[in-house]
Amino acid sequence: MKRKFLLVFVCLLCSCSAFANVEYKSDVPPILVQGAMIVETDFLISSLESPVSYKIREWDFTAGKIDGYPVVISKTESGVINATAATILGIENFKPVAVINQGTAGGHDPKLHTGDIVLSEKTFSGSSWRSGYKAEGEGVDYKNIEMLSKDFYYDGEKRERENEDGIYLYSDKNLIAIAESLKDSYTEGKVIKGVILTADSWESQVDRILFLHEKFGSSCEEMENYAAASICQDYDIPFLGIRILSNTALHQENFKPETGLTCQKFVLEFLREYIKTIK
Ligand code: SAH
Repeated sequence: MKRKFLLVFVCLLCSCSAFANVEYKSDVPPILVQGAMIVETDFLISSLESPVSYKIREWDFTAGKIDGYPVVISKTESGVINATAATILGIENFKPVAVINQGTAGGHDPKLHTGDIVLSEKTFSGSSWRSGYKAEGEGVDYKNIEMLSKDFYYDGEKRERENEDGIYLYSDKNLIAIAESLKDSYTEGKVIKGVILTADSWESQVDRILFLHEKFGSSCEEMENYAAASICQDYDIPFLGIRILSNTALHQENFKPETGLTCQKFVLEFLREYIKTIK
């Protein structure tokens, strides 16, 4: 009897989760698509059939349909903390079938230029490191670092099984394959599978960018992808990062906000392909 009571209590607790605030109903789980800024979300929002807007705390979500299938566009705002919060709120409130984190990035691979798209085969935290000791007056050596992010992941057992190389999180292979199938029809640049570095910082120093590229294989940097990937791994939700180069210090190409629109157009084509497979 006592156990039955406990079970009902736990079920009640789960159904009124502290994170779930909105009444969203859908027969099939939606696809959650994230972008940090207006230039990364406006076109996708305007592409939704019958859009409904939700504000959860400070974060904006717009639910609608694409080709008749439910899609939620989430404006996460910039940075790791915002992306983490928006991902948890998005998952708890909309129970998505997959999460796509997309938007602009800065180049780390000398082969890439503005307009090229990186599919996040792997992503890692570029700010989780410990530097080797140096005494006062001995200067600063940014290359003398040991990565720490594998220690941050609380579900360590699972993560180690999946990642021999420790610091990286992986996108869903099926989602990558769908996005890759569009590469020949993309006319604004290359589409490659690569590595996304996430940190709340913007690197403009070429030697440091090249060091990160050579040591960790980073194709580009931005501020949200790893955070969203990490929460999706916790929730066991398929994840894909899609990032367009909007700038690259390696070639002195400055930030071009209109690349945000180009990326959204690619993501819309991706969604149409993905929806065909799950409808
Ligand atoms: N809102 C501010 C800047 C936002 S921070 C502004 O308008 O000036 C930069 C945003 O663009 C982040 O969301 C990040 O994901 C992306 N981004 C694009 N290029 C970047 C780069 N080279 N380094 C880091 N983030 C970059």
